[in-house]
Amino acid sequence: MNHKTVNPSSLKTMSSGSVTAAVATLIAAGLFTITGCAGPEKAPATVHIDKASAFRMVEEIVSIGPRPSGSAGARKTAQYLAAKCTEFGYDPIVDAWRADTPRGPVDFQNVYADLPGTESGMIIIGSHFDTKHIPASPSFQGANDSGSSTGLLLEIMRSLATAGWRGPTLRFAFFDGEEAVVNYTDRDGLYGSRRMAAELHRDGKVDQCRAMILIDMIGDADLTITLSPNDDANLISLALEIADEQNVRKHIDFFLYGSIIDDHVPFKELGIPAIDFIDFSYGPNNAYWHTERDTLDKLSADSLEIVGNLIIALVARL
Ligand SMILES: [Zn+2]
Repeated sequence: MNHKTVNPSSLKTMSSGSVTAAVATLIAAGLFTITGCAGPEKAPATVHIDKASAFRMVEEIVSIGPRPSGSAGARKTAQYLAAKCTEFGYDPIVDAWRADTPRGPVDFQNVYADLPGTESGMIIIGSHFDTKHIPASPSFQGANDSGSSTGLLLEIMRSLATAGWRGPTLRFAFFDGEEAVVNYTDRDGLYGSRRMAAELHRDGKVDQCRAMILIDMIGDADLTITLSPNDDANLISLALEIADEQNVRKHIDFFLYGSIIDDHVPFKELGIPAIDFIDFSYGPNNAYWHTERDTLDKLSADSLEIVGNLIIALVARL
């Protein structure tokens, strides 16, 4: 991910007082409205993920090694994801294409699978699985970015398929090419999410999408989800309500330094309500982000559990 205007190292200057004041301002401005719960909650709102299973899958993904788009590691990861989807009873699609990048043509692969709904509509839940190509750090493993969210998304899939699902169709999307090959521009980065959003638009399916929920960098043992101003206000509101109910509100904060560019943006640009659960305060002054210090020992299964259970409850209320 990236953000438009600020230095990540300034994050730790965020005081809880300023956050509270900012939220109060948003509420006063009418930007935070409580989303009404439409009738009884859809099953299975009370499903909890298995955090050990989630962590195991994160470990398996990270053990593949660096996964930059177009690499052998990325191809192996796509195969692993498709195999896991099949194991959990899904019918995965591997969507492969070649795109021009600042470093020439690259072969990308999105992997996605739908959990069919019992009613109309669709919710997309996504994570990127590629890792940043960092010339100075060729062995960059990306345990948190992107191993954590990718393993957790698999566990959410497993949990919901096992429990049974009533509600709109859930699309679980593993995006390739979130990371910019060089730097984020309109043509570099977000390759996979832009492709899926364009297909929804082309196929006339945008109106069916109730929400796009993205997870990215959510495994930090010191978990602080940093919601941003370009997240959908109603989804923020509902997420905070659920976090209160689940006693995990202390793990959610706000990114006050600009909009976050991530895989939710192409969907938001189509008018789909979108939210990005991202912890953009990874290590002192965000020091572990996009460095070789992004390793498994920084992660915690408890963080995966907190985010996973929150996402399931959120999806069940949409
Ligand atoms: Zn990244």
